Amino acid sequence: MSISSFLPPVRTLMGPGPSDVHPRILEALSRPTIGHLDPRFVEMMEELKSMLQYAFQTTNELTIAVSAPGSAGMETCFVNLLEAGDTAIVCQNGVFGGRMKENVERLGATAVMVEDEWGKTIDLNKVESALKAHPEAKVLAFVHAETSTGASSDARALCKLARKYDCLSIVDAVTSLGGTELRVDDWGIDAIYSGTQKCLSCTPGISPVSMNDKAVAAIKARKTPVQSWFLDLNLVMGYWGKNAKRAYHHTAPVNAMYSLHEALVMLQDEGLENSWQRHKANHLALRAGLEAMGLEFVVAEDHRLPQLNSVTIPDGVDDAEVRSRLLNEFNLEIGAGLGTLAGKVWRIGLMGHSSRAENVILCLAALEAVLGDKVNTGVALAAAQKQLSVER
Ligand SMILES: *Cc1c(COP(=O)(O)O)cnc(C)c1O
Repeated sequence: MSISSFLPPVRTLMGPGPSDVHPRILEALSRPTIGHLDPRFVEMMEELKSMLQYAFQTTNELTIAVSAPGSAGMETCFVNLLEAGDTAIVCQNGVFGGRMKENVERLGATAVMVEDEWGKTIDLNKVESALKAHPEAKVLAFVHAETSTGASSDARALCKLARKYDCLSIVDAVTSLGGTELRVDDWGIDAIYSGTQKCLSCTPGISPVSMNDKAVAAIKARKTPVQSWFLDLNLVMGYWGKNAKRAYHHTAPVNAMYSLHEALVMLQDEGLENSWQRHKANHLALRAGLEAMGLEFVVAEDHRLPQLNSVTIPDGVDDAEVRSRLLNEFNLEIGAGLGTLAGKVWRIGLMGHSSRAENVILCLAALEAVLGDKVNTGVALAAAQKQLSVER
C-alpha cells in the first residue's frame, strides 16, 4: 500500500461553516509545538482569554476555549448547569434547538419545548407563557443565530425574560460571535458558547465558552457531580483559572490554540463593530444580486442573519446538481437545506474571512452560470456592484 500526502483542493467556503481560513491563521497553526504547560503557552492562553472577553463583550472570569468543537461548548453549558430532575425551557426554530433538547434529556433533565416554525424568529410571548407555566424551570436555552435557517432571535429580550422568571440563560452564539452584534454583559447572558469556524474564520475544533458569576454559583451549588469528566468546569478551571496551578487536565490542542489566538488578534485589529458592519455590508450586496436574479429569502428582513443567507431554490432546479457543479466548476461550496428545509433552500454563508466583496461577486457569477435561464440573467452582478459602491 502506498498512500501519498493529502493535498486538499483550494475552495471558497460559502456554506454554513467552516468558513475560509485566512492564510495568517493557517500559518499560525504551523508554528512550533510547545508544551501545554510551558510558561510561554500559559501566557498565550491568558491573552487568548482576554481577547475572547473582548469578542464576547464580557468581563466574565470564566471565559475559556474548550478543546473541542461548538457541540462540546453546547454540552459544557448543559452538563454543568443542569442536573438530573431539573427542568429547562428550550426554544426550537431550527436544527440546533433540537440538539439542545437532546442534551437536556440525555442528562436526565426535562426539556419543555417552545417551538417556532423554521425560518422564523423565536416568539417572545410563547417563551413567556412557558416560563409562567413552569416556575420550576432552572434554565432558558435558545439559539441566537440559527444557522440551519438564517434567522436571528432577540437574545437581549430573551435573557431579560430569563432573569424575570429566575432562570439561567444558555445562549448558542456559534454563528453570531464576530458576525453580528452580541453583548454578553449588557444583555445579561449567563452562559454562552460559540465555535471557531464560523465568523471567527478559524480552523474548526475549539469552542469559546463564557459564564457569569451567577452561572458559576449554580455549578458550585450542584448536589451531584457533573457526569462528564472531560467537560466538568470545576476541573477545567483548574487548568484555565486565575492563579490556577495549571494542573494537567488534558493536553490542549496547542497549535489549534495558536490559530484561535491569531484569529482573535485579527478580530481585535479590525475592531468588533467593524467586523459586524462588514458582515452586514456584504450581505446587502449579495442580497441585491440574489434578488435581482429573482431568488427569494426564506427569513423576513428584520430577522435575517447577514452571515447566513437562505434563499428558496427556483422550481425545476436540481438542488444537488447545482451544488456539485458549483463545487466542481468553481471550487465554490454553498450549503444545502437541513431538516424541513432540505431540498428547498440554499444556505449561502458570508462568515468571517468568507465575507468579502470578491466572494459576493464570485458566488453570483457562478450561480448565474449554473442556473442559466432558470433565473433573470445579466442583472445580478450590476445590482451587487451598485450596492457595494453605495457602501464604499
Ligand atoms: C455549527 C453550529 C453548532 C455546532 O458547532 P460544531 O463546531 O459543528 O460542533 C452549534 N450551533 C450552531 C448554531 C451552529 O451553527
